[in-house]
Amino acid sequence: MSLAIDEASRLADLIRAADSVVALTGAGISVPSGIPDFRSPGTGLWENVDPMEVAHIDVFRSDPERFWHFYAERFHSLEDKRPNRAHDALAQMEQAGLLKAVITQNIDRLHARAGSQELIEVHGTIAHSSCVGCGARYPLAEVRDRQAADPAGVPRCECESALKPDVVLFGEYLPVEAIERAEQLAIGADVLLCIGSSLEVYPVAELPELTLGSGGQIAILTQGPTPFDRRAAVRMRGDVVAELEALLSALEIERPVGDGP
Ligand code: ZN
Repeated sequence: MSLAIDEASRLADLIRAADSVVALTGAGISVPSGIPDFRSPGTGLWENVDPMEVAHIDVFRSDPERFWHFYAERFHSLEDKRPNRAHDALAQMEQAGLLKAVITQNIDRLHARAGSQELIEVHGTIAHSSCVGCGARYPLAEVRDRQAADPAGVPRCECESALKPDVVLFGEYLPVEAIERAEQLAIGADVLLCIGSSLEVYPVAELPELTLGSGGQIAILTQGPTPFDRRAAVRMRGDVVAELEALLSALEIERPVGDGP
């Protein structure tokens, strides 16, 4: 038995013994979908611009045309991406009653597309944008159409105000309700399954601490180091898809018939 399978079966045992299992995911789970982790040097979504500078709420407010010039590229780069088998695995675990919720840092909406139901997107989602004037909400496809139709390239509401993506921009506060829900889930989790995250950025960095502090255990499936490695009950460092497929096998959850790669 290889080490990876051994770790997967140990994790499966923890999950079966737990009342509440919560997953916490970061950019690493979407890399197999072709979405680079913009925090990794040289692989960024915006290699030629500083996202801290253009994806900033102050830029959106002062110069929405400039903001949307860059942000439309990001929308475009994410729009055709599909969930991979790691996203699918978490949706299947939820369906099987073995996973209570997914908390994600990702804005790519791939957990939702994979079928995860209880989903907390702490940095928001590109799935919709909202009017800064009247609050009306528009789905992604319509935002794109309105952006294309506007002479300045700024998607606008019926009321003429600019639309803002429902993602947390640099300089913005995190959504309070989502953070509180994530904290409650972490506190109540017997097992917090941390996947594809370096666990270094707030608010995600505090969640493993909350689980450990209330007597739960953490499992970490991430290739790079994290500040919690020494306190993890299970530590898996391989490919995220392979690790989660090994976990599904150990949990004896079958992949649905006809599910593509
Ligand atoms: Zn409006």
